[in-house]
Amino acid sequence: MPNIILLGPPGAGKGTQARRLVEDRGLVQLSTGDMLRAAQTSGTEMGRKVAAVMAAGQLVTDDIVIGLIGEKLAEGGSGFIFDGFPRTLAQADALGDLLARAGQTLDAVIEMQVDDEALVDRISGRFTCGNCGEVYHDRTRPTSTPGVCDVCGSSDLRRRADDNAESLRQRLMEYYKKTAPLIGYYHHAGKLFSVDGLAEIEDVAKSVARVLDGAKGA
Ligand code: ADP
Ligand code: ADP
Ligand code: ZN
Repeated sequence: MPNIILLGPPGAGKGTQARRLVEDRGLVQLSTGDMLRAAQTSGTEMGRKVAAVMAAGQLVTDDIVIGLIGEKLAEGGSGFIFDGFPRTLAQADALGDLLARAGQTLDAVIEMQVDDEALVDRISGRFTCGNCGEVYHDRTRPTSTPGVCDVCGSSDLRRRADDNAESLRQRLMEYYKKTAPLIGYYHHAGKLFSVDGLAEIEDVAKSVARVLDGAKGA
C-alpha cells in the first residue's frame, strides 16, 4: 500500500481527505496534530510542554514530532497518510530516513492548493466529533441533525482552541515560512502532485484518487 503525504496550509482539507482514504482504501492516518492534542488531553509531560506553543499557532520542535512518527513507523505496516507532517525541511529529511529504515518508500506528496481567504472561512467554521474524529463545517459540511455526529451519534462536538483568527494568522505565517519550501523539495524529488483544494469535498476526493491510482505502489 502506498505511503503518501497530504501537504497544505491549516484548513486546506488534509484531515477531511485523510479520513476518506482510511474509509475507502484502508490506509492509516498519521496526524501529528491529533497525536499532539491526544498528548495534551492525557496529561503527559510532552502534552503540557507543547500546549502553549500550539495555542499560539507556532510549530512544536522537530524532535517531538519526529519522535511521534518514528514510534508509529517502528510498529511496522504500510499505507500511511502523513497528515500535517512533515512541516519543516528537517522533518522531511527525517521522514525519508525513517521510511528507509522501515524498508518503505514515499509514493506521493499531494499538495492541496487553496487561498488564504478560503482558509479563514474553513477554520472559523470547523468543528469535529470528540468521539470519532469526524470533521464538520458550519456551512460546507454540517451534521444532518444539529449537535449530533452523523457517523457515531455522539453529541460531543468540539471546536479547537487554536481555530481563531489570531492563531490562524500565526499558523499561516509558519506555513509559508517553514512548510511551503517542502513543495519545491518534493517537486525536485519527483513526488509532488497538486490538486485544487477549493473544489467541493467530493471533487477533491476524486482528484486525490486519480493521483493515487497513477502513483507508483498505489
Ligand atoms: P491544521 O490541520 O489546522 O493545520 P494540525 O492539527 O495539523 O492543524 O496542527 C495543529 C498544531 O499542532 C500546529 O499549529 C502545531 O502547533 C502543531 N503541529 C502539528 N503537526 C506539527 C508538525 N509536524 N510540526 C510542528 N508542529 C506541529
Ligand atoms: P486541515 O486538516 O487541512 O486543517 P480540515 O480537513 O480539518 O483541514 O478542513 C478544514 C475545514 O474545512 C473543516 O471544517 C472541513 O469540514 C472543511 N472542508 C474541508 N474540505 C473542504 C472542501 N473541499 N470544501 C469546503 N469545506 C471543506
Ligand atoms: Zn462521531
